[in-house]
This record gives sequence, C-alpha cells and structure tokens, in this order.
Amino acid sequence: MNYYSLNHKAPNTSFKHAVIKGLAPDKGLYFPESITPLPKSFWDNFDNLSYSEIAFQAIKQFVTPEIPEEVLKTIVEETLYFDFPVVKLNDQISTLELFHGPTMAFKDVGARFMARCLGYFNKDNTNEVTVLVATSGDTGGAVANGFLGVKGVNVVILYPSGKVSDIQEMQLTTLGQNIKALEVNGTFDDCQAMVKTAFLDDTLTSKMQLTSANSINVARWLPQLFYFMFAYKQLHKQHNDIVFSVPSGNFGNVCAGMMAQKLGLPIKHFIASNNANNVVTRYLTSKLYEPKPSVQTISNAMDVGAPSNFIRIQEIYKNNFEELKTNLSSYSFSDNETRQAMLEIYNSYNYVADPHGAVGYLGCKSHLEHHPNAHCVFLETAHPTKFLDVVEEVINEKQPLPEQIQSVMGKEKASVVISTYEDLKDFLLN
Ligand SMILES: *Cc1c(COP(=O)(O)O)cnc(C)c1O
Repeated sequence: MNYYSLNHKAPNTSFKHAVIKGLAPDKGLYFPESITPLPKSFWDNFDNLSYSEIAFQAIKQFVTPEIPEEVLKTIVEETLYFDFPVVKLNDQISTLELFHGPTMAFKDVGARFMARCLGYFNKDNTNEVTVLVATSGDTGGAVANGFLGVKGVNVVILYPSGKVSDIQEMQLTTLGQNIKALEVNGTFDDCQAMVKTAFLDDTLTSKMQLTSANSINVARWLPQLFYFMFAYKQLHKQHNDIVFSVPSGNFGNVCAGMMAQKLGLPIKHFIASNNANNVVTRYLTSKLYEPKPSVQTISNAMDVGAPSNFIRIQEIYKNNFEELKTNLSSYSFSDNETRQAMLEIYNSYNYVADPHGAVGYLGCKSHLEHHPNAHCVFLETAHPTKFLDVVEEVINEKQPLPEQIQSVMGKEKASVVISTYEDLKDFLLN
C-alpha cells in the first residue's frame, strides 16, 4: 500500500518508508491511498475467526506487500498475545478493557506492532534506526517494552524529571538493552520541543535515521482498529446499534475506529470523550477549529491542546462537516465530573475505572440520554493502578498491584539527566 502526505507537498511513498520516516518530508501525516471494505466472505465468517485472523485480514491491505503475508501473520500473533475482554456494566453500557498488555496501557498494541514492522524492515540493514519519543507517561513505557530487543532499532525516550508516576518511571528506565531513558530537567512540552528540534536538525538527520513512535506513525496508529472489531465480536449477537465512546487526546484511537467502520464494521456512532482539553467538542458545536495550549487534568494522557490525528479524521470525511457530525459526537467533562463518575461506576457496578475510562463512561451516558436503544462501549485505555493516587483517593480503597506492575518495582533505574537540546544532540551523536 502506498501512502500520501496530508500536506500534499511530498511524494507518495510505500508503507515501509512511511513507517521509517514517521512524518512526510513536508511535515504532513501519512494516509493510505485507498481503503477497500473487507469482502462479504470475511463478515459471513467473522464469528468463527480468531482475534489474530481478524486482525490479519483487517490490516493486510495497508501493509502488504512490503510486509509479506507470512511475516504479517507472525507479527499479528506476537502483538496480540493478551486478551481484550468486554465487561458489561448494564444493558446499555459495556467497557472494553485495553489494559491487559505488558505495560497495561492500550498503546501496547500499536507499539508492539510498529516495533515488529520496523524490525522486519531493518533486519538486513547495517544502518540502525533510532526511535526518538517524548512521553508524559504511558507512551514511553509501551514503546520501551514493545521495542525491547528489536535488532537494528535503538530507542531513546525523553521524560520530564519528577513529572511521571513512579510506576511509569520504572517502566521506562529499568529495561536496559536497546532502550535508553533521558530524564529531562523540564516539562513534557520541553521534551516534545527537543524531539521536534531533533527531527528538523540536518546535522543529526544526515548522520542517523530518526523516526517517531507516536500515533502519527501509521504502524502505531492503524493496529488500533483491531479493538473495535474485537468488541463487536463479543457484543453483536446481543446488541444492535453499537456505539463507541473513546477517551481521546491525540485522536488516534477514535480515528482508527473510523477506519474499522470504513472496512465495513457496522458501528452506529462514535463519541469522542474529552477532559477539559476540548478543541474537538467545541469544533463540533461551532465549526471553528481552535487549538489551544493544553491544561492539566487527572486524565493526563488526554491533555492535548492540538490533537495530531484530527486531520486524518477530516480526511476520512473529505472535510464534510455535516457528514462528520452525523457519525461523531463529542463531549467534554471536568475533573470533578470524572471523579464522580469513578465513584458511581464503583458504587453501582463494583467496577474500578481509571480516570480516562471514566471520561469515556460519561460520554456514553450523555449519548444514551438521546439514544436509549444504543449499546455504548467505552474504551478502558489504562489499568486503574497506573493512576493509583487518584483512583485510591476517589474510591477510598487500596488497590492490589497487578503482576505486570509488580515485576518492574524495585528494579534498578538507569537514566541520563539532560537539560538542553545540545545535551540531547551530544547523547545521540555519541
Ligand atoms: C494515549 C491515551 C489516550 C488518548 O488516546 P489518543 O489515541 O491519543 O486519543 C487515552 N487514554 C490513555 C490512558 C492513553 O494513554
């Protein structure tokens, strides 16, 4: 499959180059040249297919022939070794748990898939690729874990010193091998600014192949379409009119859901559930798209003021505002509402939601007020213990630490402290 740049000022390129480059030379996001709905035979047989078979069929057109079918089968199987259960809260609301992967964040799937694609492309290459990524918490752990031990790929993760949780820091700094953690004296925005400067720095990029592992990278973004198929498989016999409420930050996840719908998955409607960072909620009301600096919330993985994937959603709808509005609603919720929702979910259903999932739950409730016959699935994007402070404070109960989390606690932290872009450059060049 070939990809074009959404800035339309760069040549079209193969899946391979789209993955290696991350962003097009004109700084546009890559988008597939075509989206062909899956054949009737696939849907007729859908209930009999395993998750790996569904995933393989669904993503095949976007990644072959650059990734041969046999290799793709292995990549998909290695990516999806854990479960994706739907838990029913009541007859109208379910949650899809996306946190059963190695770092207990939904980003595990995209990170594992991308790592294996890059590893395949680089298998005979003597020039190593360096994945450079800034994290406010969850992305770094998923990327570090997904890329651990992949030959020909080095990973450099920048995180703001003292501003990620202890668990998240352990997940970033204890792996060793091809994973290096840089602890930045500054904020997440400083980390991101350094990464952006590096991508634009010719003296660096002429000496090394840099790529990103954020959801702008097609190999991290597209595998997220699997989730919607897995949820549908578990629910469609009992429910019609399935809608998804997606806790959204950079809008990669909800945009991947729309790709699943384009492939023929009968999704009735999408809800982009936001915290106070509500540029899309405001857009759908006012038709004015006005990015703003992000504000800090308790669902901090969604603290994004300028969602990078929204342009892909615009592309799917060919910039037709009315058509987009019929398929996507968006609501924004405060931290107080989120806390109340966590408590309500716990008291009414004996279920512990993390703050991001709770925002998704609120999106379901808002939608169901006007669409009582729908069945709404909110995505639980992180395990509640990854946001332990808020969760324990709100439900007033200690949470047991799952095995994936326990296994990193007490390991030895290894990081290099940096303060300026020059420090980063020195590190990369040496
Ligand atoms: C990244 C993340 C999100 C937001 O996903 P996008 O694809 O950026 O919209 C939501 N919840 C959690 C826990 C995340 O880590």
